[in-house]
Amino acid sequence: MSSFLSKNYEKLVPYVPGEQVNTKVIKLNTNESPFPPSPKVLQALSEDVINRLNLYSDPELKELRSAIAEQFSVTPDMVFCGNGSDDVLAFAIMGFCGHGGSLACPEISYGFYPVYADIFGVELEQIPLKDDFSINAEDYTGINKNIVIANPNAPTGLVLSNDEVEKIVSSNPDNLVIIDEAYMAFCGKGCSELIKKYKNLLVVRTFSKSHSLAGLRVGFGIADKEIIADLNKLKYSFNPYNINTLSIKAAAAAIADNDYYDDKIARIVEVREKTIAELRALGFNCTESKANFIFASSDKISAGELYARLREKGILVRHFSKPKIENYLRITVGAAQDMETLVSAIKEITEG
Ligand code: PMP
Repeated sequence: MSSFLSKNYEKLVPYVPGEQVNTKVIKLNTNESPFPPSPKVLQALSEDVINRLNLYSDPELKELRSAIAEQFSVTPDMVFCGNGSDDVLAFAIMGFCGHGGSLACPEISYGFYPVYADIFGVELEQIPLKDDFSINAEDYTGINKNIVIANPNAPTGLVLSNDEVEKIVSSNPDNLVIIDEAYMAFCGKGCSELIKKYKNLLVVRTFSKSHSLAGLRVGFGIADKEIIADLNKLKYSFNPYNINTLSIKAAAAAIADNDYYDDKIARIVEVREKTIAELRALGFNCTESKANFIFASSDKISAGELYARLREKGILVRHFSKPKIENYLRITVGAAQDMETLVSAIKEITEG
């Protein structure tokens, strides 16, 4: 640490992303899609678009917000876009909870929430999960705090129903409820329809998982237009051009290609179910994950050791050395063949 860093940030513990590697490994550690993006993405990145990179990107993101609005049957003024959904979450937590405001989130969830709470001076309450790792919606009803919940939750993959989400949103009318639907495309439509009924709901989505565009860095939030106006006020006070022109074009083309992505999502779900069944047959305890990852533990081997042994075999998965989940691995659902290799490797390691 240099002597120049502000005292406010001395104790900051940053989020630790999953490893990105250049060597040839089976990469099941960051919930990326095994499929390339829609071919429409490449078509959208024409020479003409490149030749206009001398100009700033559109700060209003008109093309992208319209394309997203159409998919979710809302108006463009109900859509905010960010440089990945992390950017959207950061603006929201800064703007609605920062400087001493409140935020409640599940104790086991996306590791970035506590980091944002820390950097923006938020009073964070981390609410324990039930013993089976599910979220008890009752714990969030009428708590009079801002709330962020990943649905499906990460790294457990467990889902709250829209009725449960509605109970949380309707019982906290004076606070913002952020539902982070990074993985929702792998199990349902999500709760964005509730936005027309509730002014305190912000639904956050990403192109990184279901739309095979983690490297593009585009995410978005959908909410009542006043919330979106607030987010834009923050954006224009910090980084007006938060999405580059190539990403705008690529994401707008991708989100319209439902046929392509419906097929890829269905294939991932099929492989998820097959792999969960195979791991259970090997004696693993797997949650009913509805995301594009599996959350699994075995009595035969500690998760830490299994992580290391898989790594030696060139298979990268994610292990969190965190109380309550230190004996679980989070395994991204990859290509069918890679998942077969994973199951064989696990079999070899655990059964010798
Ligand atoms: N929310 C959750 C629950 C996630 O797991 C992730 C990915 N690590 C994100 C948000 C952020 O994704 P991105 O910034 O790539 O949109």
